[in-house]
This record gives sequence, structure tokens and C-alpha cells, in this order.
Amino acid sequence: MTGILPSYLSGTWWTPADDVDAVDVRDASTGETVARVSAEGADLPGALAHARTVGQAALGALTFHQRALLLKQFALVLTERKEELYELSRHAGSTLRDSLGDVDGGIGVLFTYASKGRRELPNAQVYVDGAPEPLSKDGSFLGQHVYTRLPGVAVQINAFNFPVWGALEKFAPAFLAGVPTLVKPATPTAYIAEAWVRMLVESGLVPDGALQLVSGGVPGLFDHLRLGDLVGFTGSADTAERLRAQAPDGVRFTRETDSINASILGPDAAPGTPEFDAYVSQLVVELTAKAGQKCTAIRRALVPAGAVDALVDAVREKLDRRLVMGDPHADAVTMGPLVSLAQREEVLRQVAALRAAGGRMLLGSMAEPDVVRADGTTGPAPDGAFLAPILVGFDDPATPAVHAIEAFGPVASVLAYDTLAQAADLVAQGGGSLVTSVATHDPAVAVELLSRIGAFNGRVLFLSRENARTSTGHGAPVPHLVHGGPGRAGGGEELGGIRAVLHHMQRTAVQGSPDMLTALTGVWHAGAAADRGGRHPFRKSLAELRVGDQFASPLRAVSLEDIETFAHFTGDTFYAHMDEDAAAANPFFPGRVAHGYLLVSWAAGLFVDPDPGPVLANYGLEALRFVTPVSPGDEIRVTLTAKQITPRETDEYGEVRWDAVIHNQRDEIVAQYDVLTLVAKTAGGTSA
Ligand code: NDP
Repeated sequence: MTGILPSYLSGTWWTPADDVDAVDVRDASTGETVARVSAEGADLPGALAHARTVGQAALGALTFHQRALLLKQFALVLTERKEELYELSRHAGSTLRDSLGDVDGGIGVLFTYASKGRRELPNAQVYVDGAPEPLSKDGSFLGQHVYTRLPGVAVQINAFNFPVWGALEKFAPAFLAGVPTLVKPATPTAYIAEAWVRMLVESGLVPDGALQLVSGGVPGLFDHLRLGDLVGFTGSADTAERLRAQAPDGVRFTRETDSINASILGPDAAPGTPEFDAYVSQLVVELTAKAGQKCTAIRRALVPAGAVDALVDAVREKLDRRLVMGDPHADAVTMGPLVSLAQREEVLRQVAALRAAGGRMLLGSMAEPDVVRADGTTGPAPDGAFLAPILVGFDDPATPAVHAIEAFGPVASVLAYDTLAQAADLVAQGGGSLVTSVATHDPAVAVELLSRIGAFNGRVLFLSRENARTSTGHGAPVPHLVHGGPGRAGGGEELGGIRAVLHHMQRTAVQGSPDMLTALTGVWHAGAAADRGGRHPFRKSLAELRVGDQFASPLRAVSLEDIETFAHFTGDTFYAHMDEDAAAANPFFPGRVAHGYLLVSWAAGLFVDPDPGPVLANYGLEALRFVTPVSPGDEIRVTLTAKQITPRETDEYGEVRWDAVIHNQRDEIVAQYDVLTLVAKTAGGTSA
């Protein structure tokens, strides 16, 4: 008999006694038992305490960049063993294509956060949000928003359909933020989640307490959550509502729930156009991938009145050519079963409800199909949860059931619309969605639709001939962008990009002196102590350079001849620099003025220390503003201060951001900006 699936809690693998009441999880194609799942008797309060103490301490010892590098190593570990995950996933009905979304998609999330973490976060523990706010006239009192990590544990409760990607999508940003995770997978696919967690644990790379897994039900877990903890839920709206009510005050509870997503065929996308073909291909993918068990799948196909038959014919024709339904262990199979017989029953119940509300079967049937078995033979599979793609048509596109019932399988409704306004109204009737896609080559259609449907969607994809091949697709959230949606979709938008990391942190408005804010953030704030003593800062390696090290140049005169030379040399003979009368007529200039780029170039000449040394390269400027015009006869000087130092973990150099301010002879600010350089970590690391 199959043993009970272990949990990984408080640093050890734990399995309940053999005689507990465990759920039998069966192979989706054959009905054979693949796992028994229970967490009866698990010490959940102990696991939470372990995360808050051991896990927090281990992650707290690392910077964002160090955590990001670990994420990359996790991705490599899973890449190495992904075939094992594919094999397990076949038991849950996933074809290789499905696993590319779940397994490789999950690994891709780790790689993306590994890279974003190092590019968009500092090599530090505190994240500085936006620019400082001056709060006193003399500059001695400032405000600054900062993010610090939450002190608790991120509990993630996942749906059955993406046991790898769905969990890693939440784990990666939590880990990067420095918050330990407790994964609670859905029972039907808990054995796949157990496998990837085991792979990471076996790698020995996971900091103690940073990742735990509970395989099975978690009664009473919420009683032990408290301020500083988070719950990230993915699943049905009903469960979400029940759990939200149980979450103690102060626990961040976010949910990704069901969503009646729409896909609009634009009025210009008539049969024969590349947009029509792309729309049909996309609909077929969304009906068949994961057997339609995707929160982002297309549930409502909105097509111009008169195009319904052409659409259904095109979908049927494509399915006839491409669809091979069966056990994913057979090579030819392109669509697997639903995850379980219970799920199949549930989907059929929802299809029956759609039909009872006036729906007509345009494609497919509710009967059990003949399928390809694992041994390559074809025939019935009574213990498999197979269901062929179904399209349901409605005479009245506003039928409420269409916009309320989620048949979580290979099922979509087809609705005809007359005007874009009507199509947009139908999208809105879904009550808030994760995604809507629009196939159109007409920017006017796109502009009108976005203005009408944007508020009802977390993501809108515009499909056209240009991106038909390169598009990641209607149903594929990407880790860079928001995954979530308003209203019925759960109201979340915390996943996607660095916002997902910040979701695991607290934003605090910090007020204090420039010196204090510099100490708190590691970023030099104007008005804080600066050190002009000793060597030019360009002579210092990262080992020697300190935030606040400063260089101040002498004044340099600006002549009309200089301006003309620069104008002719660069070709920038704009009238403000060359024509006294025209320049004087411009409300912003007193007469001819120096080019801003001339001033910035001169500033570089004024602050540079030219000899070979630790400064390796200048890779850009940021936030450049020209504030006061400079006239012939004026003088300028520049002050350069080391503002932020970001050593790179895997290179012999790091980034230094310099605060640059150009003043004139009256001490007015002429220009200010950040100069970005690469600097060697040690004098010996200098390649120049
Ligand atoms: P469920 O709501 O049934 O379950 C979701 C998760 O909640 C499972 O891990 C389940 O565990 C857990 N759960 C249930 N009761 C409790 C409880 N009392 N305490 C703690 N955890 C609990 O959803 P499904 O797994 O069946 O997923 C299908 C649904 O999820 C569909 O409606 C779909 O639209 C939605 N979904 C939404 C996504 C999104 O991103 N918006 C993505 C994927 C799915 P257990 O399995 O052990 O009961």
C-alpha cells in the first residue's frame, strides 16, 4: 500500500501514523492510487515558530542579492531534475506541454526573480521607496518611505492545477523579501509539490527554516497566525471567503480566485485574417492546455455577430487535426484528463447548469470519450477523468449564468456582440477577471476596449499578426507582470515583479535628519555629513569608498565662444544657443544660453580623476534635470558625492551611484543628476 506523503516541518521530514484517515489520490487516467495524503497530528504551531525564529534569522543574515543568487541555484537544481517532475505530473493528467507551463514555468519564475532581485533591488536589507521629501526649509528634517521585511511567515495555500509554478510564484518573492514560507499544496497534486520541495531540501542550499511543507489538511492553522504573517491563497472563491473570515486581524490575506475570463475577437478580425487564425489557435490552446483547468483560461469567447459559425468550424477543424486525448504517458497525447473523477463530475455539473440556463452545445459532448491509453491502445477509460473540449452557445449573450458559472475544465461559452460597447459590458459582467485578450489589428479598437475593460481586468493581452507567434498567450501570467485581478478574481495584484517582493515587506514613512536617513537606508541624503578629505573618491576601490565621500570642483567660466564651439562640434545649433533675439523671446531664457549637455560634459571634466584606477566605467546618468539656465559670462562648479554603493556578489566590481549637483557662481542649482559607475572591489581588482 502507498505510504502517506511526508511533510517537511521544523527542519525534518515528518509522516503521520499509518492508521490515520488519509485521502487516496489517484492517477487521473487510470484511477490507480499514487499517494495518500494527511497531515493529521502535524505540529503546525511548532512549524510557524520555526519559521519565525530559525527561518527569519537565516534569511535575515542575507541581502536581497544573496537571496537572489540562491533563487538562481534553486532554479538550476530543479532544472537538473525536472524530468522527475514531468513524470509525476503525468499521473495528475499533465502532458509535456502542460508541464512546460507548470514545471518550467515555475523554474522560470525563480530565474526571473533571481535576475530582477539583483537588477532592481539594492544589495542590502532595506528597500528605499521613491525620493526623500524635504520637510523643513533648512533641509535638516526629511521624510523617506522605506520597506523592511515582515517578521512572520508566508503561508501559501495553493490550488491543485499548478503544484509547481503556483507555489514557486509565491515562494520566490517571499524568499527574496526575506520571509520564510510554509507551502500547503492542494491535496490532489500534493505529491508533486512534495517532490520539488524535497529536491530543494536535498540540495542543501535552502537556509534553515526558509521553506516548509505541509502535505494535507491544516485545521486550526489560522488560530496561530498573527500580525506580521501573510496568507497567499489560490483556489475557489468559496474557500477564500471562508478562510479570509478565519484570518486573525493584521494578517495579510490575499487571494487569487476563480475568474470568468473573456477573449474578444475584434470586429476587424474577420475569417481569413491573421488575427482570426491567432484567436482560434489561442482558444484551442486554452481549451486543451491543462484540460482547461487554468484560472486564466478563456471561459467566454466574444465574437462579432455573424462570426459564431466560422469560429466554431475553425475550432472544430483544428481540434480534429491536432487533438489526441489520453494518458499523458502515451507519446502522441496532446490533451490529458482532468485531475480527478470528482473534478470531472464538478465540471459536468457546471456544463449542465449552463445548458439549463439556455446554452446549446456547439462543440463536444458530455459523454466519456475514447482515449489513447498508456500502452498506446485506444478505447474507453472508465477510471480516467477525460472530457473532450466543449463550446456552449447562447442566444442572449447577457444570460447571467454565462458570466457567473466557472466550469473549471475544457469549457468555454461563445457569445455574439454587435458593438464594442456591448462587448465591453459583457466583459464587465464577469465581475472582475484575471485576464481578457483581444484579437485586433486596429489600434482604435484596442484604445476603445482598454478604456472600457481595463478596470475589470488584471491583465489585457492584445493579439495581432505581429505577435501571434511571439505572444506568451492569454492563459500564461508572466512573473514580470501583475497576476491577479479585481472583484471576483480576488482583488489581488500583489504578484508580478518587485511589487510581489514588497508585498512581503512593510512600507514605513521614516522621518529624521539627513544623517539619520543616510544611516538607516545606506543611501546618502543631501545635507548629511560628507567627507572631502583625503584622496579623490575616484581613487578609492569599493573596499575603501564610503557613502558620503565627496569631491567639489573649482568654478569654470562659460564663454560665448565655448557655446558656439560646442554647437558646431555637435551640430546642436538650436536657436536658444545661437540666436540672441529668438532666445530672448523664449520665456525660459534671458538670451543665448549654454547647452545642458555642454554643462554635463564640463561637469565630467571637472570631477574626473583621469588616471587608471578603480573606476572602471560610467554606465549612465539618471534623473537629470536642468534647473537654472547658464548664460555666457556665468561660471559653474560641480559637487560629486558617493550616494549608494552596491557590491555585486559574483563580480570583482560593484555599482556606485554618485549624487552630482552643478551650481553657478551665485550658488544656484544649475543641474542635478545621478552618475552611475562600475568600481573595482579592491585596488588589485582594477583592470585599467
Ligand atoms: P479549493 O478552493 O477547493 O482549494 C484551494 C486550496 O485551499 C487547497 O489547497 C485546499 O486544500 C485548501 N483548503 C480548503 N479548505 C481549507 C481550509 N479549511 N483551510 C486551509 N486550506 C484549505 O480550490 P481547488 O484546489 O479545487 O482549485 C480550483 C479553483 O481554484 C477554481 O475555482 C479556480 O478558478 C481557482 N484557481 C484560481 C487561480 C488564480 O490564480 N486565481 C489559479 C488556480 C485555480 P485541500 O486540497 O487539501 O482541500
